[in-house]
Amino acid sequence: MIATTFYKQKQKTIKNEISFSGIGLHSGKKSHITIKPSEVNSGINFLRTDVKDVNKNALIMALWHNVSSTTLSTTISNGDVSVSTIEHLMSALSGMHIDNALILIDGPEVPIMDGSSKPFVELFEKAGLVKQDEYRKILKIIKKVEVSNGESLVKILPSNYFSIDFEIVFDSHLINSQLCQLQLINGNYKSDVASARTFGFEKDVQKLREKGYALGGSLENAVVVGDNSILNKGGLRFKDEFVRHKILDSIGDLYLAGYPIQGYFSGKKSGHFLNNQLLNKLLSDHSNFEII
Ligand SMILES: [Zn+2]
Repeated sequence: MIATTFYKQKQKTIKNEISFSGIGLHSGKKSHITIKPSEVNSGINFLRTDVKDVNKNALIMALWHNVSSTTLSTTISNGDVSVSTIEHLMSALSGMHIDNALILIDGPEVPIMDGSSKPFVELFEKAGLVKQDEYRKILKIIKKVEVSNGESLVKILPSNYFSIDFEIVFDSHLINSQLCQLQLINGNYKSDVASARTFGFEKDVQKLREKGYALGGSLENAVVVGDNSILNKGGLRFKDEFVRHKILDSIGDLYLAGYPIQGYFSGKKSGHFLNNQLLNKLLSDHSNFEII
């Protein structure tokens, strides 16, 4: 179980601008990102700087109701433009307790970097963070909310902390079933979650590419699981890197609530789709939560 508490913390943004480039995991296209500090209570926003049509809105708020696709990654859209594979960057922002930031991107997909959120965390550390003049608003869970789909299940329950656990089951002896329950307080996001990379199976690569996915995927930005071994030269970063990455993804998806969450999230064999369904159900009924 991962647990963190946010009581009486000031909102934060970055001290200095950050810039980086890289290719998208699915599109294979290069994009450049600049992240700028942002005002209190402005939240996380994406701006597509390549959109020159003045009739199109280029600004997308990173919120659950803007999620337009959850196929293999989380995509947000404002109806005019979209940005995909936002979950690892959102996870880093959540893990670093950054409330407000404007993300300028000149393409449709966030760079995959090394497949984890560690490069983003390091960039945020390098840029420095500043406390702002208002306290963080927290989304406190009041009632249990659960959604499921076949064997996949996610739920969120009242808790004194933001805590998270996850269970995966794969039909591969290199993964099998993994349950991650670790405590993360005092900023352990970086050491326990951030470096866990996205993963895929060698046997699926061709099919994915035929469908237009994973075009930018390689051993440089994903753990690739073969029939008998992990294909990456250095092996795994954690014994249970796979389930830790699912936690990384969930932290990113949950940050689309627009607030840090005080509650206990538990996921089983689930992913981006159910994470978004959970936020939809949670936030559609005000008796499920309060903003404190
Ligand atoms: Zn991921």
